[in-house]
Amino acid sequence: MTIAFEVSDRIKQLPPYLFVEIDRLKNEIIAKGKDVIDLGIGDPDIPTPSVIIKALQKAVENPQHHRYPSTSGMLSFRTAVANWAKNRFGISLDPATEVVSLIGSKEGIANMPLAYINPGDYVLVPNPGYPPYTSGTLFAGGIPYLMPLLAQNKFLPDLNAIPADIANKAKIMFLNYPNNPTAALATPEFFADVVAFAKKYNIIVCHDAAYSEVCFDGYKAPSFLETPGAREVGIEFHSLSKTFCMTGWRIGFAFGNPQIVAALAKVKSNIDSGAFQAIQEAGITALTEGLAPAKNIYNVFERRRTMFVKGLKDIGLECDMVKATFYIWIKNPGKFSSAELAKRLLEEAALVLTPGNGFGKYGEGYIRAALTVPEPRLQEAIDRIKSVL
Ligand SMILES: *Cc1c(COP(=O)(O)O)cnc(C)c1O
Repeated sequence: MTIAFEVSDRIKQLPPYLFVEIDRLKNEIIAKGKDVIDLGIGDPDIPTPSVIIKALQKAVENPQHHRYPSTSGMLSFRTAVANWAKNRFGISLDPATEVVSLIGSKEGIANMPLAYINPGDYVLVPNPGYPPYTSGTLFAGGIPYLMPLLAQNKFLPDLNAIPADIANKAKIMFLNYPNNPTAALATPEFFADVVAFAKKYNIIVCHDAAYSEVCFDGYKAPSFLETPGAREVGIEFHSLSKTFCMTGWRIGFAFGNPQIVAALAKVKSNIDSGAFQAIQEAGITALTEGLAPAKNIYNVFERRRTMFVKGLKDIGLECDMVKATFYIWIKNPGKFSSAELAKRLLEEAALVLTPGNGFGKYGEGYIRAALTVPEPRLQEAIDRIKSVL
């Protein structure tokens, strides 16, 4: 006899996982021996630059690194972060109080609401968006208030559309630019509006900058913290995952307002014990010697983007020649819902794309492709899309 254990309300209230059906179908089609092209997951196919791998190999030999790390991270890692932020964004950070290491930025993002949200507090969450903004909010007992990201607003939330009574009850706003899944960019004017809004309503701005380095055509994404006044209200989450093709390594960092950094570190000190120090050592190498090899990786994504977007436009699809991220947010040409279109592409053409509503209801009407396969496979993907449409 099996005993039924009831999961918590916080698990039950999570939104349904819309990729379950796609995953099931994908595995079925792989089992049939079909040649599946997977543009579904935002996980780069390019290996981590070798200089970073060598740094880990060396660091792992050091017995000092076999012991518990500190939750906030080695001061040497946080100093490397501060130096990088100074060179990259022109912002000066105190590594001891304004920087915290993370076990991947997802960890910090998901834990952040635990530091500030009481049951019933609101969190302003972009939709479509990265799921941990919502799940982290729900785990803390907060209420997500969806900020629609719409094409007519260049996929920036309309701050004026947030009712004052919601803004008054909101304690955190999540933002993410360059954006996943829409690949939209934030302007300095938008960030300035966000600072004014956050000050007016006493809201902490959590900016997810996971794609700040994956930029094309000479574009350089700004840090939210460059915005005048942002350091009073903000914390920014960064990741080595996309910047250096290190998704499996689990290392990231956050910097910003020291109160907010300390509150996040307090949560973390009760949940985890920091990132493996050998990986932090490799992270230091990434942030210093890894920048040049990483540039070559962005060039690969840039070429893929150019050929893929041109190819999609040639077959009559609507999408932008994006300037950052490795995602193409393709307008669903109609006839089917996004989920139905994704299902057909998979069943009829063994091609995995992510339906836009998998990132929230305001993602309906779009489908996302990740540029995580080489150019000949992207060409094959275009041919397959054409055959289904
Ligand atoms: C990939 C990604 C991250 C980074 O996650 P890690 O935990 O650092 O690997 C964060 N935010 C968004 C929007 C992402 O797409």
